[in-house]
Amino acid sequence: MDNPKKTVLVISAHAADFVWRAGGAIALYSSRGCRVRILCLSYGERGESERLWKMPGMTLERVKKERQAESEKAAEILGAEIRFFNASDYPLRLSDELLEGMVAEFRECQPEIVLTHSSADPYNMDHPDACQATLRSRVYAQAAGYPLPGKKLGAPPVFAFEPHQPEQCDFKPQVLLDITSVFDHKRKAMEAMEAQEHLWEYYTDLSKRRGVQAVRNSGKSGIKYAEAYQRFYPQVTDELS
Ligand SMILES: [Zn+2]
Repeated sequence: MDNPKKTVLVISAHAADFVWRAGGAIALYSSRGCRVRILCLSYGERGESERLWKMPGMTLERVKKERQAESEKAAEILGAEIRFFNASDYPLRLSDELLEGMVAEFRECQPEIVLTHSSADPYNMDHPDACQATLRSRVYAQAAGYPLPGKKLGAPPVFAFEPHQPEQCDFKPQVLLDITSVFDHKRKAMEAMEAQEHLWEYYTDLSKRRGVQAVRNSGKSGIKYAEAYQRFYPQVTDELS
């Protein structure tokens, strides 16, 4: 590994997306002593908090509070920092203020790795919107003339984490990340998302399936759990591997 102390920026449309889709990557990099920072653009208060809305007397503010508490707990288990933008969901509002806040984050963090949603998702338009906001703010952060303080950004690679129904989202795994050593943390973080208990087993099974495929593609028989990622930009290397 060239630089073991990389900074990873994870951009999540809703409170829990980062847990199901990138919890392994987050735990893996944090276990290596890297800084991992999660930006939650919204709490998923309207669209992804089904169980909470079944409770009597529930309000939007209470849902947000509960989801924030769950996400903070999950981030802590994974060893990451977390910030909430409260940009609303259904729809996620890509305001100038949100984009500027994201550009400022890119300039401050100077991440070497960026993780976000895939560019298509016909089941949840907030996900591609979060992807667009990520790609936009990354590019703006690279522009010397963009009027925000901080060093202009280099060219960190951006990876899409796996959507819920990859075939419908034009998602093809290009990278299988071995998360075996930290899977226990991912599972515990998933269990912190109590409003979406129905997804715990689903994403455990998915990690196992991607693990089997990682073995098939590498010959490394020790891999038990993996996460799939897709690149937005070409990999630049002086070594084909
Ligand atoms: Zn979501």
